[in-house]
Amino acid sequence: MLDAYEDGLKHRFSEIRERISSAAAASGRSADEVRIVAVSKTVGIDEVLAAIRVGYRSFGENRPQELHAKLQGLAAASPEVTPHFELIGNLQTNKINAVLGRVDLIHSISSMHLARAVSKRAERLAGEDPHFSEQAVLLEVNVSGERTKAGFSPDELRAAIDDLKELSGIRICGLMTMAPRGNADEARHCFEGLRLLRDELVSCHPDLNLVELSCGMSEDFEEAVSEGSTIVRLGRVVFDPVFALK
Ligand SMILES: *Cc1c(COP(=O)(O)O)cnc(C)c1O
Repeated sequence: MLDAYEDGLKHRFSEIRERISSAAAASGRSADEVRIVAVSKTVGIDEVLAAIRVGYRSFGENRPQELHAKLQGLAAASPEVTPHFELIGNLQTNKINAVLGRVDLIHSISSMHLARAVSKRAERLAGEDPHFSEQAVLLEVNVSGERTKAGFSPDELRAAIDDLKELSGIRICGLMTMAPRGNADEARHCFEGLRLLRDELVSCHPDLNLVELSCGMSEDFEEAVSEGSTIVRLGRVVFDPVFALK
């Protein structure tokens, strides 16, 4: 049963990489600039282990509790290669300690309040744990302006960036966004907006290092890669055998 599943994963993995390569090449980019985060939030540890065997190395979870379960499951299974995990979903301040230092990257710093809280706890952890120095993070931006979406509005981010730069304990590596669903042109426009905002911020603040653009999911990763994405967060297209690629 799992063998057939694993074959499917393997086949998908090469299909996804081909799509990323073509989209990158068509816009003068290299596929090496794009990292795949396999979003494992809907699957169990066996599926994650199968994904590791076929070659995935980065995994994304959107809940601290589920992240914890996956890390424990992996420690027990001790696979030959240890993958790393990233937090992609909404983070409540009372859950910060549960993820700090356990994830390579937090994609979802969506407000000044959250940034300050993560900074403060990261500073504290750095004082206590010699293995931890700082937490890498991305700033989540609500480019599309949909009311249901989390994140800084572009104007909020422009206004907050000086204060964000001063925060210790965190290292800001780039921006993240989620596109409106179901319309490829709108998605592309949203990803372009994220890139332009990044370019603007960097030109006003040359000391900022915003190389990462986390954008693109199962339905829109090719558009995202064309517009400069460096991290695609893929859930269904990786793990769901019946999800149909466009
Ligand atoms: C679930 C999720 C994804 C993956 O979504 P798919 O459409 O299944 O690829 C990506 N990013 C975030 C923040 C998510 O919550």
